[in-house]
Amino acid sequence: MLNIVLFGPPGAGKGTQSSKLVEKFNLVHLSTGDIFRFNIKNETELGRLAKSYIDAGNLVPDEVTINMLEKEVTQYSDAKGFIFDGFPRTVPQAEALDMFLKSKNTSIQLMLALVVEEEELIKRLLLRGKDSGRADDTDESIIRNRIQVYNEQTAVAAKFYEAQGKYHAINGVGSVDEIFERLSSIIVEKQQ
Ligand code: AMP
Repeated sequence: MLNIVLFGPPGAGKGTQSSKLVEKFNLVHLSTGDIFRFNIKNETELGRLAKSYIDAGNLVPDEVTINMLEKEVTQYSDAKGFIFDGFPRTVPQAEALDMFLKSKNTSIQLMLALVVEEEELIKRLLLRGKDSGRADDTDESIIRNRIQVYNEQTAVAAKFYEAQGKYHAINGVGSVDEIFERLSSIIVEKQQ
């Protein structure tokens, strides 16, 4: 299996690049943000639980997020691998993912981290908010909170993969195709 964590702050381009990567490498895309939004739209219990955290730009509690993610992974029993987009976002999530994948006799091979500076992220998110319909993309103070949450709670999760020699930082500024090439070449290298 080829399991990749696509990492980076909100607005770094994880969703855009994930869609392209899953096609090229025949993987399953799991975005915890997308799964939460699906549940909110369908007014499930999970959606109701997650909504207030998401609207404020805070993280949904680890236990809820980890349970949801593990259920999703289990559904794709014949997957060739996964791209985890927006997960893990805390050290406990990274630890839980490691243990869970181990129980399935697999592991994360790569963490690809998209690097984009803060003011560029804010510009991109405000632009996306104009037509994404995402409430958390339209209010600058919520966007700034999401970036602060990333800096304070999420960025440390990279160290977990760094310690395992799996971390690669990628310049996340450029055209979609240029960034896709940067990511793809690291994956191809890993596969050889
Ligand atoms: P995203 O689509 O990845 O930007 O996620 C949107 C929102 O969903 C985040 O701001 C969080 O509130 C929530 N969320 C997504 N993934 C996670 C996660 N791994 N842990 C906690 N909250 C999450």
